[in-house]
Amino acid sequence: MGLMMIESPPLLLIVVLAIVFVVAISSRQRKRMERRRFEVRICRQCGTSQPSHAEFCRQCGTRLLD
Ligand SMILES: [Zn+2]
Repeated sequence: MGLMMIESPPLLLIVVLAIVFVVAISSRQRKRMERRRFEVRICRQCGTSQPSHAEFCRQCGTRLLD
């Protein structure tokens, strides 16, 4: 009984690992997409969040660099 369990291929383990791998990859991609969608610039001078297309800070006028 014990020997059979050791010799049998760990199919369940492989399936679980595959599912975990796929979930990890997809969640990472989703996080990356969300980060890109909600990307905001933060003024280094005054810390105000700026729209991603802004070139200059609307608070203090500092040029925003990325
Ligand atoms: Zn600023």
